[in-house]
Amino acid sequence: MNNFIQPIYLGTAILLILGIRKMSSPKTAKNGITYAGWGMLIAIVITFLVPTIHGFWNHFLIIAGIAIGTYIGWSSGNKVQMINMPQMIALYNGMGGGAAGAIAAIELLGKHGDNFTMRALAVLGAIIGTISFSGSIIAFAKLQDLMKRVIVLPKHQMVNMVLLGLSVVFGCIILFSAKASLVLLPFFIVLLILGVTFTIPIGGANMPVVISLFNAMTGLAVGFEGFVLNNYALIVAGTVVGASGTLLTQLMAKAMNKSVSSILFSPINESQTSTIETTGSLKPIEVSDAAVMMAYSNKVIIIPGYGMAVAQAQHKIWELAQQLESRGVTVKFAIHPVAGRMPGHMNVLLAEAGVPYDKLLDLEEINSEFPTTDTVLVIGANDVVNPSAKTDSNSPIYGMPILDAALARNVLIIKRGQGKGFSGVENSLFTMDNSRMLYGDGQDIANKLVHAVKAI
Ligand code: NDP
Repeated sequence: MNNFIQPIYLGTAILLILGIRKMSSPKTAKNGITYAGWGMLIAIVITFLVPTIHGFWNHFLIIAGIAIGTYIGWSSGNKVQMINMPQMIALYNGMGGGAAGAIAAIELLGKHGDNFTMRALAVLGAIIGTISFSGSIIAFAKLQDLMKRVIVLPKHQMVNMVLLGLSVVFGCIILFSAKASLVLLPFFIVLLILGVTFTIPIGGANMPVVISLFNAMTGLAVGFEGFVLNNYALIVAGTVVGASGTLLTQLMAKAMNKSVSSILFSPINESQTSTIETTGSLKPIEVSDAAVMMAYSNKVIIIPGYGMAVAQAQHKIWELAQQLESRGVTVKFAIHPVAGRMPGHMNVLLAEAGVPYDKLLDLEEINSEFPTTDTVLVIGANDVVNPSAKTDSNSPIYGMPILDAALARNVLIIKRGQGKGFSGVENSLFTMDNSRMLYGDGQDIANKLVHAVKAI
């Protein structure tokens, strides 16, 4: 029986790899999801034929698990709004880590109790998966505004070191002592707490890196459990997710001009506040004047941020860009790597609206163009254009490269009011001499701009 099951598992792993490959471009991403979905479905169905899984109760439990998971996944996937997608991803990622931790617990209690290598792999999977589980739940709570963004305990890193030390001691007892089953429960409790204490002090602009790291950790944990269960699909899929997640984590840390370790081990102190005084005042502008400013520009750069996602303004913004282009204005979009609330958030939204990919330029590609740009239109972006990231060493976003909007001749900023960005820092760009505020909901203002440009 195993002779045909393992090749099928390998086939499903290949489908998952192809799916991930296709997800790397917005053009093919939809197909990628379908490939990965088929891979997952085939892997689940074939599991019923695994010889060790037999008997009514085993099959009943799998079917009940599939039914409950499908119901929750299907209904929440249908209901969730685009802006809440990052929280949902953090939550689902946590479920993957939790599943890997649960498999490890069962294996350590059960048949692999006397195989050292398998026990070692299960312990590793338990550590990584369980920390990722509770850490992802905290990331979800932060993004959902259910808890404070940054919580720092007294001697926080010391607490983490003690918890890590305890988990290593328990892990060794499980590996080398006959009393393994006695310490299993405290082992998992310590790991759950460690996931929480590891994540609570991380906030501000560092959250994307942490979410990506948990994603990579879940993949690794699943890969380890794949060895324990002798399941090719889990080994390959887990390793691919672990490797791609690690690369993404490094790329995001690089985009923030920080090392991964400094992000993880230098918690932001909430009492740390920007010392930059925002001088000058906020200067509102009428939509009609803003439209004239853009329509008579040679070059306009649009900087989208989280507020564009909230307002679902991507379609109107693309319509505005097309209107301007029809008047001979060069329009480009500047995409910051951590704009929005998930990696690639702005690219996904703008691609959905039909913006061609060659109009979306990364920070490194576009930053040199701001001094020669007539008008920058910032829509719902805040932290990613905040000059204090460059100038204020006390700012929680200090060191993060920003889009140099301030260097353009004119800057128009669409936002609803005085709301701060994710990191909670004041933004001196908004009060600069060349900045003008367009107050209102992103979609509404973009719509009014489209009409105003048409009327010129
Ligand atoms: P910010 O969160 O810094 O700012 C968003 C701005 O949008 C706010 O100032 C808000 O102001 C405005 N806004 C909100 N709703 C609307 C609306 N309906 N219409 C118009 N404006 C609106 O966004 P950025 O994209 O600049 O920065 C992203 C931040 O999120 C960074 O700090 C990043 O580190 C963090 N982050 C990113 C993740 C990622 O993977 N990309 C993941 C987790 C966090 P007002 O209320 O006045 O309208």
